[in-house]
Amino acid sequence: RARLVTIDGPSGTGKGTLAEQLAERLGWHCLDSGALYRVLGLAAQRQGLALTDAAAVAHLAGALPVHFRAGRVWLAEDDVTEAIRTEQAGQAASRVAAHPPVRAALLDWQRARARPPGLVADGRDMGTVVFPQAPLKIFLDASAEVRADRRYKQLKGKGMDANLPDLVMEIAERDARDRSRPVAPLRAAEDAILIDSSAMSIEEVLDRVLEEVRR
Ligand code: C5P
Repeated sequence: RARLVTIDGPSGTGKGTLAEQLAERLGWHCLDSGALYRVLGLAAQRQGLALTDAAAVAHLAGALPVHFRAGRVWLAEDDVTEAIRTEQAGQAASRVAAHPPVRAALLDWQRARARPPGLVADGRDMGTVVFPQAPLKIFLDASAEVRADRRYKQLKGKGMDANLPDLVMEIAERDARDRSRPVAPLRAAEDAILIDSSAMSIEEVLDRVLEEVRR
C-alpha cells in the first residue's frame, strides 16, 4: 500500500489520538488538520478579523505562520498548543472552515505533509478532498453522548474548564455546521472503512486500523 492513511469523522471520536498513535507505530508523519483550522481561527481573532470575512481570512490562511514541532503547535513565535484546544477555538475553526476560499488556501500546505516515510492525516475531508487518492481511508464515528463525554474528559484531563451539557450542545452545533456546509462537508468517502468507536477502546481501534494497514 502507498504510505498514506486518512482518518475522518466528527469531533470527539478519538481521531486525533488514533492518528497520533498510528503515526508513532508506523514511524510516519502526522497531520492534525483540525489544529490547522484552529490556529487559523485564533490568528484571525487575534488580528481582529471578522470570521465571516472569507476573503480576509483566506488571505491570512495563505501565509499563516503555523508550525508543528515536537508535539507543540506554534503561531509565529507563540506556543498556542493549549489555546487552540478550547471549545471556543473549535467553534472559531468551524466558522472559518466553512469558507471555500479558506479551504482552498490551505490545500497545498496540507498536501505537502505527505512525505516519506508516510503520513497519517486526520480531519473532516482528508479522504474526500485533500487526499482522495489515499489507499486506506478510515471514517471514525461514535454516538453523540460518547463523543461529548470524551471531549469532557479530555478537557478536564488538561485542567481546562468544561461543562458536559454545554459540550453536548456545542459539539452538536459544530457537527451540524461541518455536515451542512456546501464545500467539503463532513462525510465518509465512498471507499472509506467505517468504524464506530462508541464501545471500543483506543487500543482496539488502533489494532483494527493496523490490521488494515498491514493487509
Ligand atoms: O478536529 P477538530 O475538532 O480539531 O476540528 C476543528 C474544526 O475544524 C472542525 O469542527 C471543522 O469545522 C474544521 N475542520 C475542517 N476540516 C478538517 C479539519 C477540521 O473543516 N479537515
